[in-house]
Amino acid sequence: MDIISILQESEAMLSGHFLLSSGCHSDKYFQCAKLLQYPDKASLVLSVPVQEILAEKNAEKIDFDAVVGPAMGGIIPAYEFARQLGTPAFFTERNEDGDMVLRRGFEIKEGMKILLAEDVITTGRSTLESAKVLQDLGAKIVASICIVDRRAENAENPFSWPIFSALRSPTLKFEPTNCPLCDAGEIPLVKPGSRKKI
Ligand SMILES: [Zn+2]
Repeated sequence: MDIISILQESEAMLSGHFLLSSGCHSDKYFQCAKLLQYPDKASLVLSVPVQEILAEKNAEKIDFDAVVGPAMGGIIPAYEFARQLGTPAFFTERNEDGDMVLRRGFEIKEGMKILLAEDVITTGRSTLESAKVLQDLGAKIVASICIVDRRAENAENPFSWPIFSALRSPTLKFEPTNCPLCDAGEIPLVKPGSRKKI
C-alpha cells in the first residue's frame, strides 16, 4: 500500500513552501484531518501501525486495554485505532485553565494498559502531557500510535515506550534567513491551510 499517495490524494500531505507557527519555513505540511475526512482511506493508512502492534501482541511483547487520544487531533485516530484493535477509545481534553484532563466519566482503572493515539508526533510534548494525566490516574502507557512521526532525523525517542506510525517523515525546517526555498525563489511562501501568498 502506498501511504504517501493516499496522503497526497487526500491533501493531508502537502509539498511546497510553508510558514510554520514557529516562524521557520518547511517543504512539507501534514494536515491529518484531511485524511480523516475519508473513513475508507483513513482506515487503510491507520491499519499500518495497527498491524505492527497486532504482530507484537501475537508475539506477547505488548498488551493493551484501551486507546486514548488527546483532543482534538487524537480523537478520531484513537477511535479508528480502537475500532481496528477491538478496544474502547476515549480522550483527554483541556479544561478552562488549559490543563489536560480526563472528563465525561471516562475511567482509568489501576494498571490499565494504554495505547496513546495522535495524528502527528513532532516533539512529543503534547503526548507527554496526556501521558502524565493518565499515569497519575494509575494507567501504564505501553506505546504511542500515530499517523505521521515527524520527529527530527536521528531524534531520540522522547518516551519510555515505543512509537508506531503509518509514516516516518522527519521535519525539515529552515530559519527564514537561511531557507533554500526562499533562495530558489520558485515557490511562494504560504501559511498551511491557506492558498494565499504571504
Ligand atoms: Zn523559505
